Amino acid sequence: MSSNLLISMFSERPCRWNYDVKVILILMMLFCCTATASEHATLEHTNTSPSPPKPISIIYLIGDGMGPSYTSAYRYYQDDPNTAPIERTVFDELLVGMASTYPKDTTWVTDSAAAATALATGHKTYNGAIGVDNNKKPLPTLLEKAKELGYNTGLVVTSQINHATPASFVAHIDSRKRYDEIADQYLDSRIANRPKVDLMLGRGLSYFQRTDRDLLTEFNQLGYQTLIDYSQLKTLQSLPAIGLFAAKGLEHAIDSDDKTRLATMTRKALSLLSATPFFLLVEASQIDWCGHSNDIACAMAEVHDFAESLIVARQYVQQHPDTLLIATADHNTGGLSLGAEGKYVWRPSILKNITTSANPLALSLLKSDESWQKTWHQKTKIPLTKKWRAELQAAMDNREQNRGIRLEQQILKIINQHSYTGWTSHGHTAEDVPVYSTGRGSDLFRGYMDNTTIAKAIFTLLAP
Ligand SMILES: [Zn+2]
Repeated sequence: MSSNLLISMFSERPCRWNYDVKVILILMMLFCCTATASEHATLEHTNTSPSPPKPISIIYLIGDGMGPSYTSAYRYYQDDPNTAPIERTVFDELLVGMASTYPKDTTWVTDSAAAATALATGHKTYNGAIGVDNNKKPLPTLLEKAKELGYNTGLVVTSQINHATPASFVAHIDSRKRYDEIADQYLDSRIANRPKVDLMLGRGLSYFQRTDRDLLTEFNQLGYQTLIDYSQLKTLQSLPAIGLFAAKGLEHAIDSDDKTRLATMTRKALSLLSATPFFLLVEASQIDWCGHSNDIACAMAEVHDFAESLIVARQYVQQHPDTLLIATADHNTGGLSLGAEGKYVWRPSILKNITTSANPLALSLLKSDESWQKTWHQKTKIPLTKKWRAELQAAMDNREQNRGIRLEQQILKIINQHSYTGWTSHGHTAEDVPVYSTGRGSDLFRGYMDNTTIAKAIFTLLAP
């Protein structure tokens, strides 16, 4: 159709072609509408199909102990005070649902082993169980299924690599405390005559290099690169590999040189795993540990590292939209509340000035001796009231009897009082936890669900 015709068609000037043009147009529109309708019908047919497109790869992230008050706290902690609106965090942008976490009993309060077994296998079990049901029978895990399908598999954690959460994806044992046997299973339990995990980054060297067995050497003999120094991580170029960067514990993020070490390891893992379809588990293990201590500055630094890891994973999904990102927590820890003692205030801004977790701070104060108040100010910037000064001094004076533990508790009491942070427990609590997702298959995780539903849904996405 010529442009003249188009002009004349929409012109108010009479045109001898007008009638014919209108007929042609109506016919064209009818044709287009019919085509569009049939396209829609095809799409609808596709949408109602029992098998929606499946992700090529899966990134599964778990914030250990990260109940909903931690992510609310992080939003206020991260807020830029120079702008009026409160900035949304990556958690706010990826939130899709909430999950219940209870174990297979009526205590309602889970530990990390039962919760991780639910998240890894889709089955409820008892507290302490690693990849086994209530009768201690092994349950197939998502990571095992992925390996059977030929995926690359990876575990990236800030705890021991054989700690409850990662262990529940790889091992099958009646108690999370049997650390040596769990480590043995990482090497001995095979799929297609190979260990199940192609990349392991975390800590726990003391469980893998023991007097009775040197698993690291055995991994090396199977072709794994072995790393024990975190600075070697950037030199790692190929799989399989195992990097254990501390005897038992990586330092807390707040005490580390690399304050986003989980994000660093996640970035490296994605670059190594993505040559083929892959299943990657990333755990921010120490949110839970800071929660057990009731150390809010420590917890915020861990949540920040997890947020940065989520950002790394989301960037990967943006570049590879055929990937699923799913993230959640295994349970809530500590009964954290933002506001305490009847006061209508929570003060996250003071937390950014605290540059250490409570345990190394206690050791620094003890080492400083007479000049401990100067050290306190350098490391916390919290002004000491007369009462707080006296309480800290008393705890310093009693160091022999309590090995600094009372001093650590006193430090945390002051930080919590000064920021109006409340805690109801040194253990876990039963609130639902947030669920985050994006990428292919993420529609399966919307609304309320049980933690077992998350694993069951991922199993359907892994079905061949
Ligand atoms: Zn815990």
